[in-house]
Amino acid sequence: MTAATPPLVNASVSTPLMSNYGRQQIAFVRGEGCYLVDAEGRRYFDSLAGVAVNALGHSHPGFIAAVREQVGTLVHTSNHFEVPLQTALAAELCQRAGMQQAFLCNSGAESIEAAIKLARKWGYGKGISEPVIIVTEGAFHGRTLGALTATHSATYQEGFGPLPGGFVRVPYNDVDAVAKAASHHAGRVVGVLVEPVQGEGGVNVPAADYLNRLRALCDQHDLLLMLDEVQTGNGRSGRWFAFQLNGITPDILATAKGLGNGFPIGATLAAGKAAGVFQPGHHGSTFGGSPLACRAALAVYEALDKEDLIGNAERQGRYLVDTLRQRLAGNSKVKEVRGLGLLIGIELHKSGKDLVPRARERGLILNVTADKVIRLVPPLTICREEADFVIDTIVQLLQE
Ligand SMILES: *Cc1c(COP(=O)(O)O)cnc(C)c1O
Repeated sequence: MTAATPPLVNASVSTPLMSNYGRQQIAFVRGEGCYLVDAEGRRYFDSLAGVAVNALGHSHPGFIAAVREQVGTLVHTSNHFEVPLQTALAAELCQRAGMQQAFLCNSGAESIEAAIKLARKWGYGKGISEPVIIVTEGAFHGRTLGALTATHSATYQEGFGPLPGGFVRVPYNDVDAVAKAASHHAGRVVGVLVEPVQGEGGVNVPAADYLNRLRALCDQHDLLLMLDEVQTGNGRSGRWFAFQLNGITPDILATAKGLGNGFPIGATLAAGKAAGVFQPGHHGSTFGGSPLACRAALAVYEALDKEDLIGNAERQGRYLVDTLRQRLAGNSKVKEVRGLGLLIGIELHKSGKDLVPRARERGLILNVTADKVIRLVPPLTICREEADFVIDTIVQLLQE
């Protein structure tokens, strides 16, 4: 027998992890409520919450108990069988969102992929063979090829072509541009995909009637209204889902992030004409909707409900925005404070990247997105004193 040829070693590579993230040089060993703790025992208030993921904060007792019990009972069986916890979660999601059906997957990008496939399949049923989905400038929908194409970022897309076709981009918060694109591509457009508030794109809050007008336009042209609530969903907006503030229902709803409180899970919901489109074989996921993932998400929904965390998100979010606006009024570095629930942005005139390490030195984990926007997405469990700490720290940093 001959020995296997050793792999060629690339001498320029020095770490076993691919370098696809720009990481801060700090690691945490545990979490307690809204705080992360490092190896030296130093505590940091976590206003990033795992990128809007840890809705219940860290080490939530009800969440721990549910996941512990489930991991010792049944973790995974596959979608070859009935999964009662999946049915229970789908029912819960549909009831909270006012939708009819759910497909369960493992991430935000996957929930968008399912949304895109669902919209295309629906269009196919009406005889559309080259479907178009209208997407927006500043959008973030994830990193898989379909979601990446819907995403608007030269940096994220460069070098990954050819990207799939079938997307047309219009400015965000511009219903007339959507109407124009719908007419221009008449007979091919299947849906309009937007975030109710753009998260990664800089916490961009559209006009209050944006979704209502998109809903009316979609009805008029027989298009699907597809909402990406991966970040805004599951209570963060101060409602179960942000669209509920508009009193409308989308045809397709994608969500993930806060749904599992850190356990990977995503969901794509459908209602009305988009419901009943997927039939056996049309779509799937090996891990999607495992008993463990569904139990985790059910525990999250139970806690959101019992602890009135969605009401808390609305109240603390309003307090944060109002107080930050007051205290930052006249600060020459600040352009605008805006937000919805506990998705809050402070737009600066210049890059805010230097604030991240400076905030950390003061015990605050802070995020800056779209270069100039401080994004606050703390756990939905944040209390008034914690909100005051966040406000005081940011005001001090921006006064220096
Ligand atoms: C984070 C995010 C995604 C992608 O989610 P992943 O779980 O990272 O794939 C999609 N859409 C929005 C609005 C997001 O914020």
